[in-house]
Amino acid sequence: MATYLHVAPALALAVVIGPQRVPWPWWLVGALVAVAPDADMLLVRWHIDVYGGTYGHRGFTHSLGMAALLACAAWLVARARPKQRARSGWIAAYISLCLLSHPLLDGVINRGICSAWLWPLHGERLCLPWRPVPMAGVPLFGAERLGRELLWLGTPLLCVSALGWGLRRLIMAGCPAEPKRRETERHPRHRHP
Ligand SMILES: [Zn+2]
Repeated sequence: MATYLHVAPALALAVVIGPQRVPWPWWLVGALVAVAPDADMLLVRWHIDVYGGTYGHRGFTHSLGMAALLACAAWLVARARPKQRARSGWIAAYISLCLLSHPLLDGVINRGICSAWLWPLHGERLCLPWRPVPMAGVPLFGAERLGRELLWLGTPLLCVSALGWGLRRLIMAGCPAEPKRRETERHPRHRHP
């Protein structure tokens, strides 16, 4: 697992997508969702399943099924809020990507068991074909761990978020003002003398 940077993809995604599509309170939810899958260790500690079981570590909480469930929940919550209704699709997609970022980060690190990506279809552990981040033998906590995570995970994420942010600004600069806003400007409801 990434000890320190599981939260980073959620923040990078938020920067790329922007607050117009995903309001900032959802950034906090996304950060929590990106970190939360490792709470499955509690299930192991409480003897609900064994470490490598479907409901053990990197089991159902690290899956496409869990991402879909959370996306549905986020979509329903956003749809229930009039101000967020129009953005509910973006919010649902953002939350599902935040969840999926967790097994993705776990998967590119070259240590630890693999994730049950296809739960609930089956709980078989599937490894990513490419696990380039060298963490074998590195202690779970400490400066060496932090340094490697910053180099191998933080730096690429920073580059992606900077590029995505720049691209979004370029696209927005090229778009005309929102029709609704232009309409309001043309026909203001309240004219003050
Ligand atoms: Zn994990």
